[in-house]
Amino acid sequence: MVLSFPAAGYISTRRGAARAAAEAVAGGEKGMKAISAPWRMEYIKAEKPEGCVFCLDGEQAGDFVLKRGRRAFVMMNRYPYTAGHVMIIPYRHLSDPSQLTPEERLELFDLTALAVSALREAMGPEGFNIGMNLGKAAGAGIEDHLHIHVVPRWTGDTNFVSVVGEVRVIPEAVSATWEKLLPYFGKE
Ligand SMILES: [Zn+2]
Repeated sequence: MVLSFPAAGYISTRRGAARAAAEAVAGGEKGMKAISAPWRMEYIKAEKPEGCVFCLDGEQAGDFVLKRGRRAFVMMNRYPYTAGHVMIIPYRHLSDPSQLTPEERLELFDLTALAVSALREAMGPEGFNIGMNLGKAAGAGIEDHLHIHVVPRWTGDTNFVSVVGEVRVIPEAVSATWEKLLPYFGKE
């Protein structure tokens, strides 16, 4: 199962992927260093499943879900830009923030705040990128079901992938991060 932005076909090289990732997170802000995340090529090349993966994740509440709220949930990004990259997702399948009810908006932001606190406590990041990509042009991989990205950042994390190495190590890394983070999100 695959998740997250940017869209397939949007990127042709690892270098391009890294740049697009950073621009997607930063909203295209100039001067931001690229986060190198070569395992994201796995997502870009992967066959996309039928239906909406976020709807499926919301129903199944399986691996990588960190917190289930009443109207939204928090889960790991399986193809993260940095370790600890999580997403806040409403259960309802909708693409435009104007379609959210006030209760959903409130809970999305509450869960975003919880994610920041939990990540800060568990991993001690020095900063965060938080945001949404709406539409393919903005780099949304799953554009029909909106989601908020929370990406913890460390000084120098633009280089960490060269240390981490090959694509195949990443699923284990995400699983390990999920297990590490779970206690910080409280009981489901
Ligand atoms: Zn959906």
